[in-house]
Amino acid sequence: MKGNHMATAALILVGSEMVDPSRKDSNGPYACTRLQDLAIPVVYLARVEDRIPSIAEALKTALALCDVVITSGGLGPTGDDLTREGAAMLLGTVVREDEQWIRTLEERLSSRGRTLSAAGRRQALIVDGGEAIPNGNGLACGCWLRPEGKSLVLLPGVPSEFRSMLDAEVLPRLRDLHPHQPRVASVKAVAAGIPEADAEATLAPWYGKPGLDVSILPHLGVLQITFTLASPPIDDPKELTDEIRRHLAEGLDDHLVSLDGTSLEESLGRLLLEKGLTMAAAESCTGGLIGHRIVSVPGASRYFLGEIVAYDNGAKETLLGVPPGVIERHGAVSEETALAMVRGARARFGASCAVATTGVAGPSGGTAEKPAGTVWVAWGTRRGEKARRLYYPLDRCSVMELAVNYALFSLWRELKSEP
Ligand code: ATP
Ligand code: MG
Repeated sequence: MKGNHMATAALILVGSEMVDPSRKDSNGPYACTRLQDLAIPVVYLARVEDRIPSIAEALKTALALCDVVITSGGLGPTGDDLTREGAAMLLGTVVREDEQWIRTLEERLSSRGRTLSAAGRRQALIVDGGEAIPNGNGLACGCWLRPEGKSLVLLPGVPSEFRSMLDAEVLPRLRDLHPHQPRVASVKAVAAGIPEADAEATLAPWYGKPGLDVSILPHLGVLQITFTLASPPIDDPKELTDEIRRHLAEGLDDHLVSLDGTSLEESLGRLLLEKGLTMAAAESCTGGLIGHRIVSVPGASRYFLGEIVAYDNGAKETLLGVPPGVIERHGAVSEETALAMVRGARARFGASCAVATTGVAGPSGGTAEKPAGTVWVAWGTRRGEKARRLYYPLDRCSVMELAVNYALFSLWRELKSEP
C-alpha cells in the first residue's frame, strides 16, 4: 500500500517474568483491540527479559518494522526496571529526571506525610529527548519518544496504569499523527466440527484480494476465521462484509456457529434461551471442563441445571443410573455407556438436553481396540440421544478440550436443526 502508507504497531512486553509463556498478558490484547480501532494493526508482539541490551535489541527490531512501538512494564522503582535504560542505549542517549514529574510525586507523597526516596525518584526518569507521560493511577511516569519520526511509547506494566495512560494520553496523539489510516472492517466467524482443510475450500476464493486479509485459526475442533477489510483499497467494506457473511453461511453450512465471534458455549447458551430449554452434563474423562466452559458465560444459570462428574465406573452406575451390565458388556468407553450417561444426566436433573463424555485421555490406559485419545461423546434432547466416537491421539489436555468442543458443538447443531 505504497503512497498511502499504512502505519503499523509493535508491542513489547518487558519483564523476565513475562518471558514465561504461561504468564498471562492482559496489556497486549487490550492494546491490540484499541489500536485496531484506530486502524493501526499490531504486526509484531514480543516479550523480553529485564536486561538493558536485550531491551535495546527488541526495540531496535520493533522500530525497524513499525511506525508505533509501545512497551509495557519495567518503569517501576526497582533495579530490575530497565525499560528506559534500554531505550536510551538504543537511541545513544541517557536517562534523566523529569523535573515536573518529580514535583508531582513530591506533592502527592507530602499530602500523605511521606517523602520521595532515592528509589522513588527513579519513577520520574525519562529518556533524554523524550517527554513524560502523566500517570493518574500510579507513580511511574511514562515516556514519549519520536526517534526518526516514529513513535516510541514507554508505559508501566500494571494493567490499570497501562490502560488509562494508553486511552488518555497515547491514543489521542496517535490519532492525530496518523489521520489518514484506512478504515477497517472485519468479520469474525466461529466454526466447529469441520477440518481446517474443508473450511479452507470455502475461504479459498477470498485469498489474495487487495485490502482483504483472511486468517484461519484452528484450535481443537473449533476454527476462528477472521476477514479484515481495509478501505481504501476496498470501496465499500460494508457491502463486501455482507457478501462474505452470506458466502460463509452457505459454504460452512451447519458448521458455522457464529458470524460475530460468539463462542461455542455462548452460542449454545443463546440457543437454549431462545428455545426455552435447559441442559445438564455427565462427564467422565473431561472431569468438569464442560461445566466450567458453560458457567464461564454470564447468565448460564438461566439454562444450565448442573452436572455430574462420574469418573469411576461405580459412580457412573450409582450417580448417573448407567444400568448394571452395560459397562461390563461394552466397557466404560463405549457408545452404550455414553448414551446411558447422557440419558442419566437428563433424567437426574430433569433437563431438556444433556451432553456426556467418556474416553481414554491418555497417555496410559489405552488398548488396541480403544487406544489413548478415544472418546465417546453423546448428546441428547427431547427427541432422543446420539453419540459419536472421536479418536485424536493428542496430549491429555488436548484430548479433553477436543471432546468438550465436540460435545458442545454436537448439542448446538442438534438443537439448531430442530424445527
Ligand atoms: P512496577 O512499578 O509495579 O514495578 P512496572 O511498570 O515496572 O511497574 P512491571 O514490574 O513489569 O511493571 O509489572 C508490574 C505488575 O503488573 C506486575 O504485578 C505484573 O504482574 C503486572 N503486569 C505487568 N505486565 C503485565 C501484562 N502485560 N499483563 C498483565 N499484567 C502485567
Ligand atoms: Mg517493575
